[in-house]
Amino acid sequence: MCCAIDLAQRGVSVVVAERRPAGQPPSVKCNHISSRTMETFRRFGVADKIRAVGLPDDYPNDAVVRTRATGYELARIPIPCRADRFTDSSGPDGWWPTPEPPHRVNQIFFEPILFEFARNIPEITILNRTEIRDVEQGEDGVRAQAVDLDTGKSIEIQAQYVVGCDGGRSTMRRKIGARLTGDAVIQRVQTSYIRAPDLINRITPPRAWMSYLYNPDRAGNLVAIDGKETWLVHNYLLNDEKDFESVDRDACIRSLLGVNEAFEYELLQKEDWIGRRLVATHLRDRRIFLCGDAAHLWVPYAGYGMNAGIADAITLSWQLAAVVNGWATDGMLAAYEAERLPITDQVSRFAMKHAKGAISERTSIPPEIEDSSLEGEAARTAVGKATYELNVQQFACAGLNYGYYYDSSPIILYDGAEQPAYTMADYTESTVPGCRTPHFWMRDGSSLYDRLGPEYTVLTFDPYLDIEPLLQAAQSVGVPITVLNLSGEPAPACYDTRLVVSRPDRHVGWRGDELPVEIDAFVDRLRGGRSS
Ligand SMILES: Cc1cc2nc3c(=O)[nH]c(=O)nc-3n(C[C@H](O)[C@H](O)[C@H](O)COP(=O)(O)OP(=O)(O)OC[C@H]3O[C@@H](n4cnc5c(N)ncnc54)[C@H](O)[C@@H]3O)c2cc1C
Repeated sequence: MCCAIDLAQRGVSVVVAERRPAGQPPSVKCNHISSRTMETFRRFGVADKIRAVGLPDDYPNDAVVRTRATGYELARIPIPCRADRFTDSSGPDGWWPTPEPPHRVNQIFFEPILFEFARNIPEITILNRTEIRDVEQGEDGVRAQAVDLDTGKSIEIQAQYVVGCDGGRSTMRRKIGARLTGDAVIQRVQTSYIRAPDLINRITPPRAWMSYLYNPDRAGNLVAIDGKETWLVHNYLLNDEKDFESVDRDACIRSLLGVNEAFEYELLQKEDWIGRRLVATHLRDRRIFLCGDAAHLWVPYAGYGMNAGIADAITLSWQLAAVVNGWATDGMLAAYEAERLPITDQVSRFAMKHAKGAISERTSIPPEIEDSSLEGEAARTAVGKATYELNVQQFACAGLNYGYYYDSSPIILYDGAEQPAYTMADYTESTVPGCRTPHFWMRDGSSLYDRLGPEYTVLTFDPYLDIEPLLQAAQSVGVPITVLNLSGEPAPACYDTRLVVSRPDRHVGWRGDELPVEIDAFVDRLRGGRSS
């Protein structure tokens, strides 16, 4: 959907084929929209609507670790509620350089908003209950064979390109002969969506959005969905529990919540899943591309499944739109895989490493942790400290949001400087080509990102520098460039050159103190090569 919206906002007509019927509620999976994704939603013009839904305004977005939902609290990672999200900077993500901090909200609330938003864009046609069965590609375009699942009627869709955002069992992945490689099973999780109106009254305040539940019997995770009565309960299966249905769901839920037989709840949905680390061998075959779970599957630590998929989508969409709109050459399309595949592999390994740490932690909980004795208290303090250190990295993952960079792209002009290393949690802002364009607030209080153009933007820090040759070279081949004069603005120190070219996806494409002498070749590089 994000790929479609971004393409459409760049003037490209898109057909979205989706098996599900219009209006069918999504499954209750994703609970975290990353800051980087919220920045994308802000660019689309839908961030405010999405931020307005989810938990109540004053419901803390904190992540906690408890023995059981109704048991002892071991650690708390403070994340402000919606009402305080833009004013409270005291938490571990309070320093983030962004106009859009993350938003903790379940997919059931924000997906319908995105669908509605897309439905109202004239360039987008959504075909619900339509399944793509096959795609043939030729020199000039693709033909997709689809079927209307209600009538059985065959449908043919002709287009210039196909983007397979078709999930873990992707038809498009098979079509382009890509294989998933990595670790097929890291963790089995029995997940239940429940309605339990009395649970909130049994949990000692303050409230939390997510609660890891660690006790000697088993471990799990509880997510507040509406902040009132609906909850998602993840039950991490033990090593010898291979079959979801043979594990007593009800007993596990009661044990994790710390409630007895008399406690009343209703099972709304089962959402059992297997955590994996799988990455596709390639993301493209000529006119067919893969994004999202079609390209990668990993354990959702740090909430980076959907968010990474959206990053894929909006990297591909501007590049595809540039080619369709005629200002980039086919060479631009090689950038997508060169940029996203290494990042995909890296993120999958971050998530995997975190998963290993979390599994080791929750399977070695001291037996006395629930005792009211001094030993019990000491165990709670020790586990609380360790689990805070481990988990603050995933709940305040600045590196995953802003730190990743593209270091081998055919459309970025590198200058020999190395991009700063990053971890899941750490990010050093930088204008080394390939890095995220560092964000800052302008003197008038506006966000740099709101001032960037829709395509390339040249940021100039010296009003006397003549950039006319660049503008003329760009204009002669139709490359859209916005000029943004930032002299006198409070830019961070990493802006240490007089010029920076920011790409449509807010990564640095080039920087320097003088325009390159070979200005036509420079512009050609930004647009994927010279037209033949
Ligand atoms: C329990 C759980 C919690 C998670 N929490 C988070 C989180 O907090 N944050 C996060 O970022 N990620 C999270 N994830 C991961 C996230 O859910 C996925 O990465 C994300 O949904 C993938 O999106 P996608 O669009 O690529 O694929 P999907 O969501 O699988 O969507 C694919 C769509 O394509 C349609 N489709 C498939 N084949 C065809 C076809 N042939 N023709 C037409 N339509 C077709 C399907 O109907 C489906 O709607 C979580 C995952 C799980 C299991």
